[in-house]
Amino acid sequence: MKVINPYNFIPLPEGKPDRRPPIPHDRFMGYAGEFEITLNSISPMIVCSGREQGIPLRGKREGKEYYFIPGTTLKGMIRNIYEILEGGCLRLTQVSNLKTPHEREYGGCERNNFLCPACRVFGMLSKGEVYRGKVNPGDLIGPLAGPIRGETKIEVTVGRPKAEHAAFYQKEKNLRGRKGYYHQEQPVQGTLQTKNIYPLPAGTIFQGTISFKNLTPREVTLLYYSLVLEEGLAHKMGFGKAAGLGSVTVQVTSMKLADLGKRQNFSINWLSALPPESQAILEDLKKRTDPTYQAFKSIYSIQGIQEKRYGYPSYKWFKDNPQMSLEEFNDGFSTTSEY
Ligand SMILES: [Zn+2]
Repeated sequence: MKVINPYNFIPLPEGKPDRRPPIPHDRFMGYAGEFEITLNSISPMIVCSGREQGIPLRGKREGKEYYFIPGTTLKGMIRNIYEILEGGCLRLTQVSNLKTPHEREYGGCERNNFLCPACRVFGMLSKGEVYRGKVNPGDLIGPLAGPIRGETKIEVTVGRPKAEHAAFYQKEKNLRGRKGYYHQEQPVQGTLQTKNIYPLPAGTIFQGTISFKNLTPREVTLLYYSLVLEEGLAHKMGFGKAAGLGSVTVQVTSMKLADLGKRQNFSINWLSALPPESQAILEDLKKRTDPTYQAFKSIYSIQGIQEKRYGYPSYKWFKDNPQMSLEEFNDGFSTTSEY
């Protein structure tokens, strides 16, 4: 069976990020509120600390130990989607990797009074310049932590093709865009370097709250979309994404929001639904036909994944095929078992 590289790239939108001055934090403008969310793993998953890789994070709450997902991990996951949809800056990409004028337009925001759509919502930090984000995800609390069981052990390939494989990572010397990992039906067994990890099984549930303030109707709508996505799509989270781990879905189980810019005296009119403008914003989003949105949907899709097998090219393949591109690999130059 043909083997496909476990990740692909979502191209940057044309033009440049829509940078503007952000809303100052000392004002009440637009929507404030919170989303209650439930996250459900649809594949084995593991969110671990850098110190204890391989074991799911656990922490004490009211005397009992629970598995949990830090708010910062959740924030990273939804910010990633928001950046794709709204053309946010490439804040984590080194400037030296941005080659063309188009790519350099997407370099990380540097001034806290002139920010891309994603930095205006999630915040920025660059060389002493700071803008605190308007979205604050709390930790997600999972099931009571049990003993680590050996039978959930999965081997994961930790060797990765590195950025120096230019033919693979770049297209005609340009950056290929943002990286995204495909969903996989069966986690892949590592074949080269492996690491023993102990993921939580599919069907593990975590719950928590995301609070926000000063969001425009578009921002609150796209924040909501960045959580729940749409029919047939799912998120990737945590360790072992290339090996097929970390496919998760998110539901907003309840919400509470109010337009604080429109409040009268001290009475706040809390809503339990998105603003009236949201429906049109979501419909327009789902009608997009640009390459960015199309690539996003194809990589985040959980439909038809049963027919596909994923794997990295081996180090030997990279050595034997130094100039071969990601497309050529995916197009089946690798139909043998030794991919
Ligand atoms: Zn930015």
